[in-house]
Amino acid sequence: MEKPNFYDFNLSSLSDFLVEGGHKKFRAQQLFRWVYGLRVTDPESMTNLSKEFRKDIPLLFDFILPKKTSELVSEDTTRKYLFDMGGGLSVETVLIPSKGRYTLCVSSEVGCNLACKFCFTGKQKLLKRLSVSEIVGQYLQVRDSLPEDIRISNIVFMGMGEPLDNCQAVFPAIDIFHDSWGINLSRKKITVSTSGLVDRIPKIINSGTRLAVSLNGSNDQVRSGIMPINKKWNIEKLMGACQEHYRQSKDRITFEYVLLSGVTDSLEHAKELHRITRSVPSKINIIPFNEHPQSDYKRPSESQIDRFQKEMMRLGSHVLRRKTMGRDIYAACGQLNSLAKDHPGKMSVL
Ligand code: SF4
Repeated sequence: MEKPNFYDFNLSSLSDFLVEGGHKKFRAQQLFRWVYGLRVTDPESMTNLSKEFRKDIPLLFDFILPKKTSELVSEDTTRKYLFDMGGGLSVETVLIPSKGRYTLCVSSEVGCNLACKFCFTGKQKLLKRLSVSEIVGQYLQVRDSLPEDIRISNIVFMGMGEPLDNCQAVFPAIDIFHDSWGINLSRKKITVSTSGLVDRIPKIINSGTRLAVSLNGSNDQVRSGIMPINKKWNIEKLMGACQEHYRQSKDRITFEYVLLSGVTDSLEHAKELHRITRSVPSKINIIPFNEHPQSDYKRPSESQIDRFQKEMMRLGSHVLRRKTMGRDIYAACGQLNSLAKDHPGKMSVL
């Protein structure tokens, strides 16, 4: 009979599973500490467990992580990993260095059905929603491959896929990332980014993580033109959900706004963007478009980017320009796509 994968359990489902099998509940915490805290999966090395329980472990679980099949390093030291998710499918994960900190951008799906027009992932139809182990596995495999002095301090769900389209795996994975017996990251160091699945935004409040909204359009006409999800949940509904999120969480939201030349980058757009976001305590990240082979959109000129940012600042918005990282290896925002044949540059097969 096929055994469950240990990495698919959060602490509470592991406790239930063990108790149902006649084991003590506290074994779940002990196992979490060994596996996530100490990265030990050999039962014989788990010295504080009884001999009988140690013998049972290989009968209870498999310990399977997705395989890292390649790794690219950018000129700016951003790293992009390709993970094999079985059945010929794969996802990309990006490790971004910034001022001595490391942020891991994880994927939640192979491809994405939301089909945002500017996004390389959106060109790949949804082929698979990842499991808990496939999400947590991206973190563990990267962490295990890094030198000891490099610590991943933040996790962002901004890789391939819409995280709120895969809640059944994303939220248990967040439990493992946060659990003090597990990976032990503060909830505020974890950010979930959504394109605007309004009815699922309350789940982010419950998880205690940070919310980022991929906004990208300053009015419904523009936003519906580049993000089909806006036809279902327009800007008014999205902002209503954001206001409610802030009311309950008291946590400032990040709005991401991609600057597409001639589409979203005029001073009129800046004024509209200020108007629609000012009702929510927020920060706006402007992201100059990162071009990729399957898009006709263009990145605005530096002077236009500068004008846009200055106009937002003049109006009183808290606006930052997102530093572009990893563009030479197609690891920058909106550039992920696991069809390796579309990738430029050197794919270093491990
Ligand atoms: S931006 Fe996000 S939601 Fe939109 S297609 Fe890309 S991965 Fe999907």
